[in-house]
Amino acid sequence: MGLLDGKVALITGASKGIGKAIAERFAQEGAKVAFTYLSSVERGQALEAELGQYGEAAGFRSDASSGEQAEKLIEDVVARFGHIDVVVNNAGITRDTLLLRMSEEDFDQVISTNLKSVFNTTKHVQRYFLKQRSGSIVNISSIVGIKGNAGQSNYAASKAGIIGFTKSVALELGSRGVRCNAIAPGFIETEMTGVLDEKVVQSWRDAIPLKRGGQPEDVANACVFLASDLSSYISGQVLQVDGGLLT
Ligand code: NAP
Repeated sequence: MGLLDGKVALITGASKGIGKAIAERFAQEGAKVAFTYLSSVERGQALEAELGQYGEAAGFRSDASSGEQAEKLIEDVVARFGHIDVVVNNAGITRDTLLLRMSEEDFDQVISTNLKSVFNTTKHVQRYFLKQRSGSIVNISSIVGIKGNAGQSNYAASKAGIIGFTKSVALELGSRGVRCNAIAPGFIETEMTGVLDEKVVQSWRDAIPLKRGGQPEDVANACVFLASDLSSYISGQVLQVDGGLLT
């Protein structure tokens, strides 16, 4: 028996990295998985085929920053699977630079993709969750949203915004059986971090109490917990998955 048997889950931004690991772990735990991608079309199609070995899965090309596309996405997922139980808002980008050099576009793109995207799916999925009086929303924030980071003021603002949004939704929808939590990963080794200098990366690993960078599966396992009924009395929380880094 899987921890997510019978559940339908939507994961945004699952063509690679953390989102892909979440989609894989959810499928292994028995969930029917819907997921999105934007630019990585071939990878999205390959993931759909890969997940098919576990059960029903469907990939959708959908821009997380678009409210219109989010509305259609939620309708398409419900039309395909009959209902929806879990949304993991994972899609995210970085446009790192010092504030001195940061353009308005760098700021707006990060806020739209990372923060407004969370509003978009939550806004449109809520009517299904309210009607069935259950649902779990898991938002991928970052420890940078808790402590800030030089060179990432746009990204930190988006990830801090996710935490405020998460807590507000938990308060607003709790009485209807809907839970909303955030995960704040620390340094997770993915393509997003693969562009960084190896020396810098090693210095980060050395600073982590558990002495290693996190793997996408570390975040995915926390997501399984928050999506499953094992966490049925947990809402409005921020779970740090950071090897003890921000402690
Ligand atoms: P990644 O490898 O760059 O993957 C990002 C994913 O988001 C891709 O699947 C990408 O899809 C998708 N995406 C980007 N813009 C999108 C949009 N507008 N619409 C739909 N999908 C979009 O990044 P990652 O490291 O796995 O990060 C995943 C999440 O974890 C992000 O929210 C990130 O901020 C957060 N996080 C990461 C770390 C870390 O250390 N890696 C730490 C803390 C938090 P396409 O390629 O198809 O466009």
